[in-house]
Amino acid sequence: MPRPIKITRLAVTHYAWEIHDLGREERLGFDAVYRPGARSPAGGSILTIETDAGVKGEVPGAVDARAAQYLLGRNPLERDVIWHDLKRSQRGSINAPPGAVDIALWDFAGKLYGAPIHELLGGWRMKLPCYASTYHGDENGGLTRPEDYAEFALYCRQELGYPAFKIHGWIGGPIDREVAAVLAIRKAVGDGMALMLDPAGAFNTFDDVLRVGRACDEARYFWYEDAFRGGGFSLYAHAKLREFVKTPLLMGEHIRGLEAKADTITARATDYVRANAGIDGGITGVMKIAALAEAHGLDVELHGPGLAHRHCMAALRNSNWFELGLVHPKITNNRAPIYPDKRWLDLLDSVDDHGCVDVPAGPGLGVDLDWDFINRHKTGVTVYE
Ligand SMILES: [Mg+2]
Repeated sequence: MPRPIKITRLAVTHYAWEIHDLGREERLGFDAVYRPGARSPAGGSILTIETDAGVKGEVPGAVDARAAQYLLGRNPLERDVIWHDLKRSQRGSINAPPGAVDIALWDFAGKLYGAPIHELLGGWRMKLPCYASTYHGDENGGLTRPEDYAEFALYCRQELGYPAFKIHGWIGGPIDREVAAVLAIRKAVGDGMALMLDPAGAFNTFDDVLRVGRACDEARYFWYEDAFRGGGFSLYAHAKLREFVKTPLLMGEHIRGLEAKADTITARATDYVRANAGIDGGITGVMKIAALAEAHGLDVELHGPGLAHRHCMAALRNSNWFELGLVHPKITNNRAPIYPDKRWLDLLDSVDDHGCVDVPAGPGLGVDLDWDFINRHKTGVTVYE
């Protein structure tokens, strides 16, 4: 039986911030792309879970009122019970417990025990190789031509040490330009860099998907991700694509729930298994998905950056790359500085000379939040008690 500790109060602190030279892509208006002079809101929130042990969990993210009411009075050490209860509460929507809650409970536990989360997970590697993961292509002189991607990949390799590079290409074509970019990048960087392509569901036809996939084959890409306009949900479509394209597939970043992830594997729809602590049930959820992948001889690839992913990946044998993104040659400073040291902010230059990020050594998530910055940009606090 865990020691008797109770959650006494939850707070969500909201803050505002802006990214410069980032706007909306012109054709559909959803995706963020380079746009000189534009500004994009990039605020966020911090979830604080307080306990009667005098130790708190504190992480980027939020909680809704229903989950907060459930958590008040519960024992924060009973993570697995909480995980399953909150998962059930989300069965009609994301089918996973709110990631921030689980991560905050791990942060609390680490601080209670005086140990970093990676140590509680049995982690051993403290340097994580990264891929520079680009913003989508734009028409504004940033990532506009195939050679822009090629030059940026070469810069990431030669100047920053990145061992890998992932393109998010253009929204809405033309497909010839996408094919040219796939080939131009390989030509520029040679064989010493792993390359990935993520159209993020931007292609229109099966023929588009095939043409780009065949270019990935020719240029020996590491994976081909979420190519179908359907958004990466169809197991059938991906299993069929495998009949035509040799490059390993990665799909499932929009598929929620451990059971549905299992189906992506058994349907042979994916070669790498996607997991995201923020939306797949926190650190507990990521480690479950990683074990699921392990049981099938597959690797798990974490979607997006963040401290929680650094701790998980430190403890995962079957994971290849840390996704550092999104990045762009002309957009710098695209993360709210909620940590004082840029090493933890997942910026383009947060990597060491070998293109790796570090795993924090402090208790819990291991890096103190910069509350001076957060309080200066605070727009409100929601409290549950
Ligand atoms: Mg993706």
